[in-house]
Formats: sequence, C-alpha cells, structure tokens
Amino acid sequence: MKGDKDYYRILGVPRDASLDEIKKAFRKLALKYHPDRNPGDKEAEERFKEINEAYHVLSDPEKRRMYDLYGTTMGSGTSEGFGFSDFGFNVGGFEDIFSEFFGDIFGRSSRSRAQRGADLRYRLEITFEEAARGAQKEIRFPRQETCPDCGGNGARNGTAVETCPVCGGRGQVSYQQGFFSVTRTCSRCRGEGRTIREYCPRCKGSGTVMREKKITVRIPPGVDNETRLKVRGEGEPGKYGGPPGDLYVVISVKPHPLFQREGNNVICEVPITFPQAALGAEIEIPTLEGKEKLKIPAGTQTGTEFVLRGKGFPVLNGYGRGDFVVRVIVEVPKRLTKRQKELLREFENLSKGSQGPLGKSFFEKVRELFG
Ligand SMILES: [Zn+2]
Ligand SMILES: [Zn+2]
Repeated sequence: MKGDKDYYRILGVPRDASLDEIKKAFRKLALKYHPDRNPGDKEAEERFKEINEAYHVLSDPEKRRMYDLYGTTMGSGTSEGFGFSDFGFNVGGFEDIFSEFFGDIFGRSSRSRAQRGADLRYRLEITFEEAARGAQKEIRFPRQETCPDCGGNGARNGTAVETCPVCGGRGQVSYQQGFFSVTRTCSRCRGEGRTIREYCPRCKGSGTVMREKKITVRIPPGVDNETRLKVRGEGEPGKYGGPPGDLYVVISVKPHPLFQREGNNVICEVPITFPQAALGAEIEIPTLEGKEKLKIPAGTQTGTEFVLRGKGFPVLNGYGRGDFVVRVIVEVPKRLTKRQKELLREFENLSKGSQGPLGKSFFEKVRELFG
C-alpha cells in the first residue's frame, strides 16, 4: 500500500506547505535525482520515483485531501498502478520533458518552430592560376526563395491565413499524462500552426519558389581541390522565421598543362638538351607569374631541381608561400642528322677515359666485381 509513505517528508515540505512550495521542492529534487543525471544509480532512481509519486499526490488538491485524511489515496482511482513509466519517459529526453515545466531553468520557454533553411552545395571549377592568385567568380544556381506573390505565407493574395484552431498556432498539442505534459505535433495543421483557405497559385502554398540566384564569390588565393568556401546565409530560406542555410562552394581546380601542385609547391619539369646541360645555359621557364630566366650551370644532371623560393602557392588563409621547383630533364635526341652523328662520334672518341664521377665509380665497381 502506497499510503504508508510520508509524502511531505519525501519532498521535505511542512504539512501546511502551499502548492507553490510543493512545486518548488519538487523541481529541486526532481532535477537532482533525475535518471538522466544519475545514470545507473538505482538509489537515485528509487528516490526519483518517490518524489514523483509524492508530487503527484500533493499537487492535486483532491488527492492531497484524501491523503491528509486517510494517509492514503487509495480509492481515488489514480494512485494504483501509478509508477515510473507513467510519466512518458519514452517520449523524449531530459530536456524535452522538463522544458514544459522548467523552461526558465533551461532558458527556453517553449519549443520554437523556427527552422533553419537547407544548406546548398555548388561545385565551382577554376583554373590553376586562379587557385594561386584568388579570384572573384559570379555563380548562378537554382534556389528556393520566398514566394514574391504571397510573401512566403502560402495563401492566395488577400485570403486569410488562419491560426490553426486545434493547436492555437503552436503547431503542437500537449496533453497531461500524470503531471507531465506530453507534446505531439498537431495533426490538423501537421505542425504548421495555421490553416490556409486558398493556396497561393504561384507556390502552391509552400511559400517558396525555385529561382535562379546569382552571387559573386571571392576565392581566396591558395585554394585547392575540395576546398569548401562557406557563403553564410546564401542557402535556402528558413521556415517560420528561421535563419537561411549556408551555401558551400566546393572548388575543383583544372589541371595545368605544365605545372603540378604538391602541397603549396609547384613542380615544373623543363626539358633541356645535352649540350645545354653539359655547357650550361640560360633558359626561359614559365612560372605562375609569367616567364622568367633560369641559369643552368655547366654539368647539370638530369633530374636536378632548381628552387625558386616563395614562388609557389600562397598558404590558404595564412602567411607565406610555397616554392616553385624547376626539375630539368636532359632530353636525348631521337633523330639525328648525319652531321650531328659525326660530331657525336668525334665527341665520343675524345671522351674516352674521361668519364664523369658517376660513370667512373660505376665502372670501378664493375671491375671490382668481375675482375
Ligand atoms: Zn494545429
Ligand atoms: Zn506563394
């Protein structure tokens, strides 16, 4: 029998406590012993059940009178079978249930129906140079916008939008279960909070229409493939006064015919001839900024890299720049004229016994191995 419990002691209030005092005491204790705040704590769970039971009785004038008179509420028909699960804890989490009661504690008085608009994604292809230098790009994309005919309320010009009579415009209905109120989306207006007599013909009542939007996006220098640029507030409009979503511009960089990007460095392979490599030369190379002259010293080997410091990609949203790396490739000619062959044979004859350091050490090793 439940009546053997001292509900006043459980809530820590005097016998003549006012309803306000009882509510206050309950709030404090319920917050302290709520299972969400004491996961796995059986004792807290027991206390929480007791507190709820006590409040259930003492907050109801009729039940409280019965309890005061007989020390039990048996016979009032509601106490029996009243327990933990009756509070609808399966309905939502801690805040969901409690916000109905403790809105002030959690800093929100009721659920807001305002909905943020959807985010949009736009893939933008830019050139290698634009990625390095940055750019201003005008982009066009289809997007839902507030309907100009109805101003977004979805009703035909001049016809009224009525507040939903069932939920009074809240979009949700609450009903009491135990002393908790359980909230559901209003079935009459499906959460819209309003009913429309005649729909706006242009947007069919949705309040939005698809339109092509044109905006200018600033591409900061240093972007790479898959860099996401967030354009705040340029997504789809929010609902019920909610903020718009954001637009994400995702960058694709077109491959460059001459340059390759490695981090913030740019690699450029430049073919040179054997005489240029052997004799040294001044060659013209392409860079991100245009053409430039590069001195190739005599005796340059294939694959040698010349680094132009700070001539690569700028660090995105940071300081400094990568390098521009020229990798020279000594190209062996595939077709030779008769005269060229003669000269090369002569060169070969003159070169006997005068190998370079690589060749020398290689052939020394061969001799060591094979005698
Ligand atoms: Zn409604
Ligand atoms: Zn409309």
